[in-house]
This record gives sequence, structure tokens and C-alpha cells, in this order.
Amino acid sequence: MTSQDNNETNTRMLRRKARTLHNRLIKLYGIPRWTKTDGVSELVSTILSQNTNDGNRDIAYTRLRARFATWGQVRDAPAEAVIDAIRPAGLANQKGPRIQAALRHITTERGALDIDFLGDLPVEQGREWLTSIHGVGPKTAAIVLLFCYDKAAFPVDTHVHRVTGRLGLIGPKVTAEQAHAILEGLCPDEQYGVFHLNIIRHGREICHARSPECERCPLQDMCLYYQKLVRP
Ligand code: SF4
Repeated sequence: MTSQDNNETNTRMLRRKARTLHNRLIKLYGIPRWTKTDGVSELVSTILSQNTNDGNRDIAYTRLRARFATWGQVRDAPAEAVIDAIRPAGLANQKGPRIQAALRHITTERGALDIDFLGDLPVEQGREWLTSIHGVGPKTAAIVLLFCYDKAAFPVDTHVHRVTGRLGLIGPKVTAEQAHAILEGLCPDEQYGVFHLNIIRHGREICHARSPECERCPLQDMCLYYQKLVRP
């Protein structure tokens, strides 16, 4: 058997494993729903969510929307006013200017604060366009493409990176950035949103960063971390 044959067999096994995990997580958590929003709003919300939890992001987002009627007003406001509005999200001195720069970038490139053209682009072109905005990485781009435009992009945040690494869907040296393409190769497109959200939920509720609750985890039999480090 050649190394190419080995790689293909390995990929087939990982695809089967991803499918089984997806089904197990649905049994555990159900099928999560999400509300579709416009791309600019999702982009701002995702920038706000960097390095904080959903609660703080939501408070900051609500304050921002309450203080400024439009994204154009956010773009043109004094930096201090935006920073003050989003302070609950943390790192406001970085996120405020980043949001305003992204809004300026969109306006310059598109002539308006509207990125719905991404819905008509192939996923890779959309990813390239979004990541050309300063401060927008592959995770943020994938969130916008997947949740606003139904594109086949799989977002990898800290939970997804940790949990899929422990389960063995990605190798131990794979970075979060590299994991995007790997996970996209393992899961059918139509599963991305549900699988992504259920992995995050599993990471929050059971497979915690510091002390995973393996003893009550129904994925033990499929988990490399459990088999190597926990099972006696
Ligand atoms: S067995 Fe433990 S490490 Fe593996 S997925 Fe479950 S909680 Fe995480």
C-alpha cells in the first residue's frame, strides 16, 4: 500500500468519524437554530466576540446599536465614542478602531456598507475578500460566510480547535488556522453549521479547556485524549 493509499484510507476513516460524531452530538444537544443577519452586522459582532464570551459580546453589541443608528454612524464616529460603547467586550481600544477600519474598508471597496455580494461569490473568493480586511481572520470570515451566506466554510474557534483535537479529527500540531481546511474536508457542507455549534456547546458544557468532564462524556469511545490520557 502506498503512502497515498494510506492517506486516502485515513481520510475516509476520519470522514466516517466526523459523521458519527455529528450524529452523536445531535442526539446529545439537538439541532441548534440560528438567526440569519446581514453580513456587516455579523462581521461587527464577530470582531466584538474575539477573546470574550457571548454575554459580554452581546452587551457591547447592544450598546453600540443603541448609541449609533446606522453602521455609517459607527464608521464616522470619534474613535473614543465607539471604544466607550463596546467596552464590555474587552480590548475595546483594539476592537473599536478595528471595527471602524473594517467599515471604512467595506465602504471604499463596495461604495456602501453592504457585503451581500459575497452570497454570489465562490467560497474561496469570499474568504479571500474578507480576510483582506485588517483584523479579519479565517474564523471571522468563515462565520460570516457560513451563517449569513450559506457558504461551505467551517469556522474554527478555540472550542472547536480544542475539542476536535482531543477527539482526533485534527492532529496535535494542527493550528486553528490550518484546522479550517481540514475540517471542511471531513464534513459534508450541509452539516457545517450544526456540527460547529454543537461542538462549541460540547466544549462549553463538558469538554472544558482546563478540566474536561470525561467521566460524563458520551464521546469517550471516540476520543483519543480519553483513550490516551484518562482511561486507566
Ligand atoms: S472524553 Fe473528555 S476529552 Fe474527550 S471529548 Fe469527551 S470530555 Fe472531551
